[in-house]
Amino acid sequence: MNAQRDYADLVQRGLSLDLTRGKPSPRQLDLANDLLKLPTSYKAADGTDGRNYGNLQGLAELRELFAPLLQVPAEQLVVGGNSSLAVMHDTIVHALLTKVPGAERRWVEEPEITFLCPVPGYDRHFTICERFGIKMVPVPMNGEGPDMDVVERLVAEDASVKGIWCVPKYSNPSGVTYSDETVRRLAAMSAAAPDFRIFWDNAYAVHHLTDTHAELADLLALCAEHGNADRAFVFGSTSKVTLAGSGVSFFGSSPANVKWFLANTAKQSIGPDKLNQLRHVEFLRDTEGVAAHMRKHAELVWPKFELVDRVLAKELGDLGTWTSPQGGYFISLEVSHAAEVVARAKAAGIALTPAGATHPYGQDPDDRTIRIAPTYPDLEELEQAITGLAVCVRAVAEERA
Ligand code: PMP
Repeated sequence: MNAQRDYADLVQRGLSLDLTRGKPSPRQLDLANDLLKLPTSYKAADGTDGRNYGNLQGLAELRELFAPLLQVPAEQLVVGGNSSLAVMHDTIVHALLTKVPGAERRWVEEPEITFLCPVPGYDRHFTICERFGIKMVPVPMNGEGPDMDVVERLVAEDASVKGIWCVPKYSNPSGVTYSDETVRRLAAMSAAAPDFRIFWDNAYAVHHLTDTHAELADLLALCAEHGNADRAFVFGSTSKVTLAGSGVSFFGSSPANVKWFLANTAKQSIGPDKLNQLRHVEFLRDTEGVAAHMRKHAELVWPKFELVDRVLAKELGDLGTWTSPQGGYFISLEVSHAAEVVARAKAAGIALTPAGATHPYGQDPDDRTIRIAPTYPDLEELEQAITGLAVCVRAVAEERA
């Protein structure tokens, strides 16, 4: 009955800790404080006045800076506002209301639209689908990305499958990076729907935590090579590079898709915030500037990932398995009766992302996955939270034994 006693002690302590969302810590945000003094000039490289309307696609110098990092040619990259999630949401709205290149009709006219959702995945992708009544079909993830045998079959057989959500590098929440073979198969596979799209959310493209950098194959180039040039929509942002609430986002795709995208956004806006774009160019400077900045993040974040790994290894033994990512923002923990563990943790003052959130409709059929977001708390709080979480896992396991 040791675990129940430990759990009672844990509740007694009256903790108030939060491991729910992948937010940068205040110290990480401090790394970008110089942005508050920038830009020093409102003139863009082409001499235009950044204070005024215009330049819907975004400054060329910023697109050139991020082109190699997102594996999209600068002329096929569009800079958006602070939230790539908003760009993803709006891209679906555009596809619903305006035919995407290659489509027979607007998505809103389709009797049914289906998106494949590799699981575990990012809950906010799923809520976008729920909002628009897009049916979600889970596809299991393995160590190389989604199970491609399943993806290929569903995409080839079912013309209602119009999209797949992918977080291809340091995935949310498992930390997996798609293998070259997975990316090649995604680019090359045949699709029943002529307007099938891969929603390539490369949110963690530069978020390495160690010297071992995951390399991702170039989806856009591979799609073009395999005769599916318009298949990929690439997304990214600086939310976890500079300031989560005041960064810049990106949309990248084929020339035809970019034209389609800009024709749609032209109806929404007369131009983006170019002072913020200038600020980011001045602050990050070049690819090496981004890498140097990300190393400072890694110095703050990696000890937290190590700590989670160490505490789970010590406290959980074989009561769970978890990922040990070399980048990104999340660790995925698999245990029995995840929902009960999360409820126990909540009662003990440790807030976790709801069990099931990593799956479409909030339903994890195996009730196993818990997403751990270790970046926000300081090391001491994180140790308390993960130790407490382990107590909850042990208490539930003991009770169910
Ligand atoms: N995509 C993924 C995979 C994420 O994990 C997050 C943040 N948790 C986002 C997108 C949100 O990006 P943004 O801040 O650019 O809207």
